[in-house]
Amino acid sequence: MTNWVYTFGGGKADGTARDRDRLGGKGANLAEMARLGLPVPPGFTIATDACRHFYANGRTLPDNLQREVQEALGALERLTGKTFGDGDDPLLVSVRSGSRESMPGMLDTVLNLGLNDKSVEALARASGNPAFAYDSYRRFIQMYASVVLGLDHSLFEEIIDRVKEESGATRDGDLKVDHWRGVIDGYKIAIAEELDEQFPQDPGEQLWGAIQAVLKSWMNPRAVTFRTLHNIPEGWGTAVTVQSMVFGNMGEGSATGVAFTRDPATGEDNLYGEFLPNAQGEDVVAGIRTPHPLTKPQAHGSDLVPMEDAMPVTFQELKEFARRLENHFRELQDIEFTVQAGKLWLLQTRDGKRSARAAIRIAVAMAEKGLISKAEALRRIDPASLEQLLHPTISPDVERIVIGRGLAASPGAATGEIVFTSEEAEQLRASGRKSILVRPETSPEDIHGMHAAEGILTTHGGTTSHAAVVARGMGKPCISGAGAIRINTEKRVMLTGGRTLTAGEVITIDGTRGEVLLGALPMVQPELSGDFATLMDWADDIRRMKVRANAETPEDALTARGFGAEGIGLCRTERMFNDEERLRAMRSFILADNNQARDEALTAMQAMQKADFLELFEIMRGLPVTIRLFDPPLHEFLPRPGRETEQTAQALGIDPERIRQRAEDLHEVNPMLGNRGVRLAICYPEFIEMQARAIFQAVMEAGEKTGEKVVPEIMVPLVAYERELKFIKDRIDIVAVAVMEEWGAKLDYLVGTMIELPRAAIRADKIAESSEFFSFGTNDLTQSTFGISRDDSGLYLNEYLRKGVIDRDPFITIDVDGVGEFIHMAAERGQKTRPDITLGICGEHGGDPASIAFCETVGLHYVSCSPYRVPVARLAAAQATLAERAEQ
Ligand code: PEP
Ligand code: MG
Repeated sequence: MTNWVYTFGGGKADGTARDRDRLGGKGANLAEMARLGLPVPPGFTIATDACRHFYANGRTLPDNLQREVQEALGALERLTGKTFGDGDDPLLVSVRSGSRESMPGMLDTVLNLGLNDKSVEALARASGNPAFAYDSYRRFIQMYASVVLGLDHSLFEEIIDRVKEESGATRDGDLKVDHWRGVIDGYKIAIAEELDEQFPQDPGEQLWGAIQAVLKSWMNPRAVTFRTLHNIPEGWGTAVTVQSMVFGNMGEGSATGVAFTRDPATGEDNLYGEFLPNAQGEDVVAGIRTPHPLTKPQAHGSDLVPMEDAMPVTFQELKEFARRLENHFRELQDIEFTVQAGKLWLLQTRDGKRSARAAIRIAVAMAEKGLISKAEALRRIDPASLEQLLHPTISPDVERIVIGRGLAASPGAATGEIVFTSEEAEQLRASGRKSILVRPETSPEDIHGMHAAEGILTTHGGTTSHAAVVARGMGKPCISGAGAIRINTEKRVMLTGGRTLTAGEVITIDGTRGEVLLGALPMVQPELSGDFATLMDWADDIRRMKVRANAETPEDALTARGFGAEGIGLCRTERMFNDEERLRAMRSFILADNNQARDEALTAMQAMQKADFLELFEIMRGLPVTIRLFDPPLHEFLPRPGRETEQTAQALGIDPERIRQRAEDLHEVNPMLGNRGVRLAICYPEFIEMQARAIFQAVMEAGEKTGEKVVPEIMVPLVAYERELKFIKDRIDIVAVAVMEEWGAKLDYLVGTMIELPRAAIRADKIAESSEFFSFGTNDLTQSTFGISRDDSGLYLNEYLRKGVIDRDPFITIDVDGVGEFIHMAAERGQKTRPDITLGICGEHGGDPASIAFCETVGLHYVSCSPYRVPVARLAAAQATLAERAEQ
């Protein structure tokens, strides 16, 4: 026979904390607290099975539920010494919902149940406070009428307003007993008129009505939406907890409040929370009165008396119970309590929500105390939340006026004047002013502007668009794909949320949430506390995969090393041509119409590249550096048509027509599927020979300078045919021999490829014959596997997400079933040919915790991500190792 009802109270309980599935979070923890001998008002919980039965059987309750509830009520009466429905010493109860996962405010609750025309008098006598008793009764009628009888709130508001007007009272608190009686009469008449029936006086009928209403609330529209958003299955159902009422509003010596066992914002090991003397829980929620702090330190600067002073004995008791609960659950607890005439009652406890900073501090402190293992401490931190600590963020308690939204492309927040061109961003920076660069999208020509701006906002593009990738690399906040914002670059205005903002007006962007905000907001600077470092050390001890960074500038490389990167997994050499002088050299090469001009440009670029590589090798000394040969289509380096073309022509001393002609030659319908990567290298081998020579010369010089051997990893992008790679490798080898001869010294180097096209994955065994390592370029591999553009897919992928067609954006988290299969296949086939082949990932997924977990299952040797994500990846890799170990 199924047991539907589980009792708790008096030091005993039918269930335990492990019964969340059956008793809901609230019911299970109440049972556990009762077993621990803590003072919980006794009661019973109707299991979630009853809810499932209710919906599986046309909204009818199980046959024997009524009998079990009667028995439980009987037990409750014996325990409390009160009688349900009795006129003299009534047992009053609350009827609360309780899902396995907390669904705050989504389901219904009824308080003060059991009150009727007779028991209200008994409550008035017992409390010595008739106004309180009648107020409780009218609250009950109001709550019951709306939750159980389905009447509209406004009906009752009107009645109260009328009584207040007649009596000249302005606040509910000014109403006296007789007024409340008048309100109650008014309520009862209104109910009778609306429903053609009387408000139920029989507590049994009240209870039954409330239980069914709570069960029905499981399917109310807001609960359904909440479940969809939080992936809570409908089949879980809610439990219903019936608990004897305690009152925090019985006058002096009574109170109600919430306590966290530690400060949820900082993690500091001090009781933290609020309480309201002489109040019921809903008064705290309603925010009519300002709650008092619990402790003196919390009270500083306020004249509200803390509980520590107002109720010193009860406070000490609360502190002791809080400590016991935390030690027992081995987690930060969020506790609801009520003090009824000097007696402390605990109404609920659950794991407390906390900031990223607090989460780290608490986990480290608990592990150091031996309450949890280091592995458990690592598991408890959400790796993605670490990014909050690595970038400035908006101060949590300021008002935000959101004027637009887009994709949260690069975390952190920044404030500045709106600028619409990179040139303006530079001008502002030169005059010591801060800017936010607002553009439809960005291109390599905007790098200087992106550098100069504090943050970037684009109206097009996804989370792997140029703006997003570059901003993440720079550690700058970025919002991309803010499609509802209209930019008029000519008029220098942007239209958003019904406002027109002109260049020079100040906005703030929150790249963590994807929100565009009006004005300047105060920021909190990143702080890497000792606990953060400790946690990282523990992660390093456990993780199997190495973590490298995607970096090409000395600043990026230094940041990456500072965050613990173990090498560079991707140096995108094309990004080294962003500054003006380099861009000019690159343009001279592209526009050269004779060998001499072309050779001069190559010589200039070789010197620049050599200097870059030398600096990188010095910074990353002792660690591997993967240098990727030039990748993007050449047209990206030509000036935009119009004024820029004229200026470039002038600077290079050539006819603007030549530039226009060359741009036309290079024009492609699908440039990302066009002449880029290895294809470009095959068309212009002299370019990659220049790069190889620059790399080898830098290796030689770095070796001489530092006395340490450098072994560069030269990486060829976008390979599909094995012969493409062979063609390039042969040329690299020839350059190596030449440099070795020039220097009279030996060079060690690796040549490998990116696996970023399906054909490369399929032919990985053949490609591995010339490739000493594979690095999965999952940005392009995702693009080419799906056949969707990584730059423009944001709009419809968002629609897919919203409509539930996909669960995750494949450009953020690896699509394990499709792209993941290619990775598995390539790893396996590559290892068959070359068992010691090094396998890594350098697409944006390398910094995404869920994708990192996948990389562990494939057995990759390292992940590489933007410098600011290195700590995220270190923790995610440790969690991935722990998860894999648990699997085995
Ligand atoms: C990739 O395609 O995943 C990659 C890392 O290269 P890029 O983003 O430069 O194309
Ligand atoms: Mg790529």
